[in-house]
Amino acid sequence: MSRITRRDFLTRTAATLAGAGLAGPATLAAGQGATRSRADVIVVGAGLAGLAAAITAADEGASVLVVDKHYRIGGSAMGAGGSFSAAGSRLQREKKIEDSPERHLQDANRIGKGKADPGLLRLYTEQAAPTQEWLESLGIEFDAKGPRLAPEHELYTTARTCDAKGGGPGYIMALGKQLDQRIASGKVTLMAETEARRLVTRGGGVAGVAVADDSGRERVLSGKTVILACGGYGSNAAMVKRYNPSLASALRITSKYATGDGLRMAEAAGAALVNMDLLPPYFAGVENPPGSRRTLMISLISGIVPNFKGDVWVSKLGTRFMNEDSLSPDERERALRTIPDAAVFAIFDDAQLKANKPPLFAFDEHLKAGKTIKRANAMGDLALEIGVPAGQLAKTIDTYNRFVDAGRDPDFGRKDLVRIQVPPFYAIVASGVIFMTMGGVKTNARLQALGAGDTVIPGLYAAGEVQGAAQWMGDGLMSGAGNGAALVFGRQAAKDAVQAVRGGQR
Ligand SMILES: Cc1cc2nc3c(=O)[nH]c(=O)nc-3n(C[C@H](O)[C@H](O)[C@H](O)COP(=O)(O)OP(=O)(O)OC[C@H]3O[C@@H](n4cnc5c(N)ncnc54)[C@H](O)[C@@H]3O)c2cc1C
Repeated sequence: MSRITRRDFLTRTAATLAGAGLAGPATLAAGQGATRSRADVIVVGAGLAGLAAAITAADEGASVLVVDKHYRIGGSAMGAGGSFSAAGSRLQREKKIEDSPERHLQDANRIGKGKADPGLLRLYTEQAAPTQEWLESLGIEFDAKGPRLAPEHELYTTARTCDAKGGGPGYIMALGKQLDQRIASGKVTLMAETEARRLVTRGGGVAGVAVADDSGRERVLSGKTVILACGGYGSNAAMVKRYNPSLASALRITSKYATGDGLRMAEAAGAALVNMDLLPPYFAGVENPPGSRRTLMISLISGIVPNFKGDVWVSKLGTRFMNEDSLSPDERERALRTIPDAAVFAIFDDAQLKANKPPLFAFDEHLKAGKTIKRANAMGDLALEIGVPAGQLAKTIDTYNRFVDAGRDPDFGRKDLVRIQVPPFYAIVASGVIFMTMGGVKTNARLQALGAGDTVIPGLYAAGEVQGAAQWMGDGLMSGAGNGAALVFGRQAAKDAVQAVRGGQR
């Protein structure tokens, strides 16, 4: 990696934020390269969890060192939506929406099939609204159109998903300014382009972090406590393959820096990893047409399901696998796990294409590029194009057409039935999408990392996606709780770490 100067860093940061449509300068890099090597709290990672932790720890009176291997702060949030779910929020009160943390917890347990850690889920549901108010006090604004019921994930019973203005980067812009103030007053030192490589252990606990700068030069930072806030492992192909082999070829839109370093370091220091087998991919995404400047994926739920009738979904086996009209995101995500490689082909005919709006953005570009949309005059040729067994695909479509004629789908109970019969035939080539990871470092509800037999590893905390979202979501994707929990737990880890430092324990 080439050496990036502080000037480069500032320029790039400003450019990144400007590119994200955010106004106003944020220094963000002040303090980079400072020589401090000792602190009460070392925070590894400057995404949502790390920023919430660093600001809180500084405000609680601790000296704080933040390291991030990227040249700018923000982590996954720089590419994320801004949703945040909270029960009892100011916005809910203003709109007279009745809600409570208890109700949030019940919803979460329904969505997560009761698999979340009870203590962490309670902490999240109880602290989400106070954390949201804290964020507002730091300058983060939430869209007044919310709170909403968020159809992109399994629905809560109550409208409690709020959206930060400016999406994920909206949080980072405001938190970055707050961090700058604490850097200016000497409470925080930020070391960008500094990679944490391993935890330093002493006397049975964690006492620091060995880091390397962008030239590979290592040094040891001493910390009374260390908060791992360095995200998930979605961009580490080898880890995805090892823990979730059926998703090895699924689309991934995780931050390039979500490489599982925190999981690896914590495990080497004796921490347990949990829920590594859980990884419900989002249903579903397609690759971009070449040259398009759009994000990697667009969900089929915003394309095919509400606006486009008459397609059937088959797997690589050439067979249907669910009721295509299901309104439940969880049912779709669950069905993805039953098919090879989470690969989905949405099949439809020319009559449906002409009768509806195109089922995908940039339909013509995709068709021309020939990768995401395939077309053929015969079903057998379409099968060859998408690599599914031709005989099976023909049989599936014949059977489905017979269900249409009979007005009943005995296989999956689909109600909206339209024949597929007019050539040319089309297939959209889609896949489940990994956007955050669900397995990670086991913690208790004080965010202390736990080892074998749930023993606390003194001095080590973990907050945010590094914990694996299943610890608070259970076995299902829950709206606004990726961002939300990173912020709630980052803040809580800092409070607990500072309390431990004050009490002389770790
Ligand atoms: C495209 C996308 C859309 C999303 N949309 C939503 C949404 O709408 N709502 C929602 O609730 N959630 C959403 N999420 C999930 C949510 O944004 C993330 O789970 C959350 O931002 C994770 O925050 P984090 O601080 O735990 O980790 P990260 O944001 O991943 O931050 C980790 C930081 O640690 C740094 N780091 C990594 N390894 C090291 C190392 N060895 N040394 C030093 N630094 C290191 C990284 O550079 C990074 O800055 C989305 C995620 C993605 C990718």
